[in-house]
Amino acid sequence: MRYTKYFIPTYREIPAEAEVISHQLMLRAGLIRKLTAGIYTYLPAGLRSIRKVENIVREEMNRAGAIELLMPAVQPAELWQESGRWDLYGKELLRFRDRHNREACLAPTHEEVITDLVRKEIRSYKQLPVNFYQIQTKFRDEIRPRFGLMRGREFIMKDAYSFDVDEEGANRSYEAMYEAYSRIFTRCGLKFRAVEADSGAIGGSYSHEFMVLAETGEDQLVSCMKCNYAANLEKAEVKAPQAAPAEALSSREDEKPLQEVETPDIKTIGQLSDFLSVGPEMLIKTLIYVADGQPVAALVRGDHEINETKLKNYLGASIVELAPPEIIEEATGAPTGFAGPVGLKVRVVADYAIQDARNWVTGGNKADMHLINVRLGRDFQVDSFADLRVITPQDPCPRCGGPIHFSRGIEVGHIFKLGTKYSKAMKAHYLDENGEERLMVMGCYGIGVGRTVAAAIEQNHDEYGIIFPIPIAPFEVVILALQMHEPEVRETAERLYSDLVGKGVDVLLDDRDERPGVKFNDADLVGIPIRVTVGQKGLKNGKIEIRLRNEKESYQVDVSSGTFEVIGIIQKLYDSIH
Ligand SMILES: [Zn+2]
Repeated sequence: MRYTKYFIPTYREIPAEAEVISHQLMLRAGLIRKLTAGIYTYLPAGLRSIRKVENIVREEMNRAGAIELLMPAVQPAELWQESGRWDLYGKELLRFRDRHNREACLAPTHEEVITDLVRKEIRSYKQLPVNFYQIQTKFRDEIRPRFGLMRGREFIMKDAYSFDVDEEGANRSYEAMYEAYSRIFTRCGLKFRAVEADSGAIGGSYSHEFMVLAETGEDQLVSCMKCNYAANLEKAEVKAPQAAPAEALSSREDEKPLQEVETPDIKTIGQLSDFLSVGPEMLIKTLIYVADGQPVAALVRGDHEINETKLKNYLGASIVELAPPEIIEEATGAPTGFAGPVGLKVRVVADYAIQDARNWVTGGNKADMHLINVRLGRDFQVDSFADLRVITPQDPCPRCGGPIHFSRGIEVGHIFKLGTKYSKAMKAHYLDENGEERLMVMGCYGIGVGRTVAAAIEQNHDEYGIIFPIPIAPFEVVILALQMHEPEVRETAERLYSDLVGKGVDVLLDDRDERPGVKFNDADLVGIPIRVTVGQKGLKNGKIEIRLRNEKESYQVDVSSGTFEVIGIIQKLYDSIH
């Protein structure tokens, strides 16, 4: 490709609208442009990168035995009503009516459509297992779209859905996708990690997220330094205490009598901890929630953070939200901010750490009042204990007890075991060897294609711009012809260009009539992995310069007797970073 015949609109200024580095660089490098909130046009160079990710995804999905099809973006409400998600999905599902007043939505995902297809077309165990996938544009009406392609409303996704005769088969399909995903992100040239994750709104029983590791990632992941355990922060289990509540009760501190303490103007855990001169680990936070319409109190230690996903899963509720002030007042008899477990009339669930026999400090269920020397069993009861909190760096690995490590990443892929959630709701049956009807067992598997490009940039950049991994770079080699008007420069650059094109390399020839500084800056900004510089000064000694985007040093290569040596070196470099 010739720069003068192409379109890469770069610019220097940091765009005010872009909070994260990948968003800034994708705008500045001329890869994307915003149309409206969370909706982008993929410019030519950005699209090249996206297509390269898609090709890797397609090759590996095919290799894993998945079959490509393409499903519609517009879906009728009936299917979503059948699965039960029409009411559950919330406002991220963009709904509308057509001219015949029929309800429909713009698809954020395709479980319903694929299940509908499979239940109509597949009847026998002989036709199973099957795994269908597509690379398609999805829509999710995010309340706050941001970070460019990282959290857009419209986005390109690869989604796959497997159907098996039983659980064992479904496990094999899941493993095959786990392997395929590992190959995909390796081939994209990314450092990544597969972590255990919560199944969330999609449902199902078991899932892994594939995280591209990046300091700037918005997801936190927890990994063990001794064993293979890795999970996202939301999912990471906290090892349950060894001692039963009764034993723990007798272990810690001597009992002291319960006492009320006036705490005027004390609003936060920090203020309370200072006011009473006790560590936050001596405090109990009492949080009042509404779970599917029922008030529930959740207790966690003052220095711990409640994990609402764990709470929701533990309660088995569809919707868990912090209670509004009137419910808190009804449950505690006090305004918000003074809830405590003593005398509460609602169900009480507590994190395992509350089992400790301490003289706790808790809210007093009265305005400006707290209680000290509060004892579990004597002063308050707990209906059940569970792992309800966010893991901390001080916690041991839940599997082996070893030390854990916190790092950051960006979720680019997610695989789920769905079980029979959708096949049951939508009656996707097959006939087994004995002619009996059985439910198909499903799995679903997603990759954010645009997000993968954005994550690659978060992981690979410097102060000058993007450092694309070569497999997903818009171009593999850029030739900078510094003085295009000089015949010798032009001829050498043109010869290199046609030789490399002939070898099947993706080359961009910067043939613009621009200052060398502009060409160097743009090449760095767009992040093309191999840069070849052809300039008048070098050619006087019969040399051109080759430099890798991710290295400081450059190579001077002789071209006085032709491009043979240059091509050889580029191919070697190409192989070494591919
Ligand atoms: Zn471990």
